[in-house]
Amino acid sequence: MQSRITRRAVVKGGLIAGAFIPAIGFLSETASAAALTPLDPKDPSAAALGFVADGTKVDAAANPTYKPTQKCGTCAQFQGKAGDATGGCNIFVGHSVPAGGWCKVYAPKPA
Ligand code: SF4
Repeated sequence: MQSRITRRAVVKGGLIAGAFIPAIGFLSETASAAALTPLDPKDPSAAALGFVADGTKVDAAANPTYKPTQKCGTCAQFQGKAGDATGGCNIFVGHSVPAGGWCKVYAPKPA
């Protein structure tokens, strides 16, 4: 017995797969964001890099390179999207940081 795959079946299958693939990506992104734990400023590595959850509370005298425009949300290490309240950080793996946070290794996202 020989089975025939029609062009209509191939197109229909492709359309169904195309509808689900973005949904799967969204679900895995949501699940991975939920798996991150908020970075505690008292964490030894966070404290060593002067991490603060609120960038307006940076001790400017102790951090002379700090500028008020520097925030996690505009840092090259921030893994969230523009407008996200929190996101992962390449430096503090497994943790999320607030978009308004800051630490000493801040570097602006490339334009
Ligand atoms: S490396 Fe960037 S995103 Fe990560 S905590 Fe420091 S300033 Fe925020």
